[in-house]
Amino acid sequence: MYVQDTIVAPATAPGQGAVAIVRLSGVRALTILDSLWRPLRAGTKPEPRRMVLGEVIDPATGAILDRAIAVRMPGPRTFTGEDVAELHCHGGTYLVRRILGAAMAVGARMAEPGEFTRRAFLNGRIDLTEAEAIADLVAARGEGALRLALDQMTGLLGEKITKLRGQLISIRAHLEAEIDFADEDIDLPGRGEIASSVESLAEDVAVLHQSFVAGRIAREGARAVILGKPNAGKSSVLNLLLGIERSIVTAVPGTTRDVIEDSIQLGPLTLVLQDTAGVRESTDEVESIGIARTFRSLAEADLVLAVFDASRPLDPDDALVIERCHGRSGVALLNKCDLPPVIRPDDLRGAGLAMPIVPFSARRGDGLESLRTEIVRLAEEIAAPGVAAGVAISRERHRAALGRALQALAAARESLKAAMPPEIVAVDIGAAADALGEITGEIHSEDVLDVIFREFCIGK
Ligand code: GDP
Repeated sequence: MYVQDTIVAPATAPGQGAVAIVRLSGVRALTILDSLWRPLRAGTKPEPRRMVLGEVIDPATGAILDRAIAVRMPGPRTFTGEDVAELHCHGGTYLVRRILGAAMAVGARMAEPGEFTRRAFLNGRIDLTEAEAIADLVAARGEGALRLALDQMTGLLGEKITKLRGQLISIRAHLEAEIDFADEDIDLPGRGEIASSVESLAEDVAVLHQSFVAGRIAREGARAVILGKPNAGKSSVLNLLLGIERSIVTAVPGTTRDVIEDSIQLGPLTLVLQDTAGVRESTDEVESIGIARTFRSLAEADLVLAVFDASRPLDPDDALVIERCHGRSGVALLNKCDLPPVIRPDDLRGAGLAMPIVPFSARRGDGLESLRTEIVRLAEEIAAPGVAAGVAISRERHRAALGRALQALAAARESLKAAMPPEIVAVDIGAAADALGEITGEIHSEDVLDVIFREFCIGK
């Protein structure tokens, strides 16, 4: 029902600016524009999609509110698929409120967050991955996030998913034909052929599923956790990387009890850095909670930056850090190399550390460039499977749906191997197709849409 409403909202950010755009969409958008605005050259009928200068008038009093450009865009070839009108007025906070009020007085309703994009989706102008990409594009903080959002917004991901889903639907159709025409002599693909198609589709879905890490790193940044015993220089390393005094640096061990987080840009890579409580055997209750948090951050991190104090002998706390680095991707910093060295890279290797080691001085900045280069290299290494997929998924929602598709495909493969009846296999293939359909929104529920569009701001 409400899709019949005509909605209005500012399309530009709140606050003062040179220009603000007020956008209308819906069956009455053009009529409402006509009662709000008239061209300067009276009597001319403005052509669609042309910017025309005119005056905004208050329909209640006839008073002139602003001199503004209007654009009329009759549907269905518009962003929302409906009639759309835009008023490019002066960017005054009060003025915009006044124009919105005037539009509402003649029948428009204030848009809900993301409602323009939601209508674009509901009217079939874009799929759900494209709608999400619009939010990602606006939120992008770096080149990686921008590229990913653009690829998704131009339909790369949606097309790939739609293609895979189409193949699944065709396999299911063949299986159903097998059921329907079991007694007739028609030429259908054999079980072997179906099994190999399912096999290769499952591989494609798995590659896409694996691309999540690359997508997440591009969208949110790579998470690096700074690990080390108290006083190794973790906060100093963080501050050096951030270039500001973010963490408290003190000579008292155990000062960073909570996890401190901030992000930096390393070329195209956004790096989310977390400074943590120093790792050591502790009986202090508060400190132990801090250390437990450190291990939780560690579990979720993509990279570990392990900090060791080169001016002191290795001790059991360092051994604890080395143990936690096992099997992880990251860099070890042999810090305080400005002081007379007591331990060297070989000592760390001898103690079982397998990561690349960078001699470092947080005090003097030595090793900073090598550290940056190494972080970018490692992040690229982690993202490589996604890059190989050509297009990456970026959201947990996509990952979960692909996971369900993979499960259904695994079940289908089992059933095919066990020579189960076609209807059993068809159910699993159908479930996999449905899971993919949820990603693009071919299958959707209002609840899912509410969650997705809640992220958007008003006017988008
Ligand atoms: P955290 O407990 O691991 O976070 O260590 P901090 O960053 O608070 O540093 C502990 C102490 O080591 C402070 O007194 C720092 O000034 C000192 N420190 C940190 N990095 C270096 C370094 O590269 N060289 C020297 N000489 N001292 C450092």
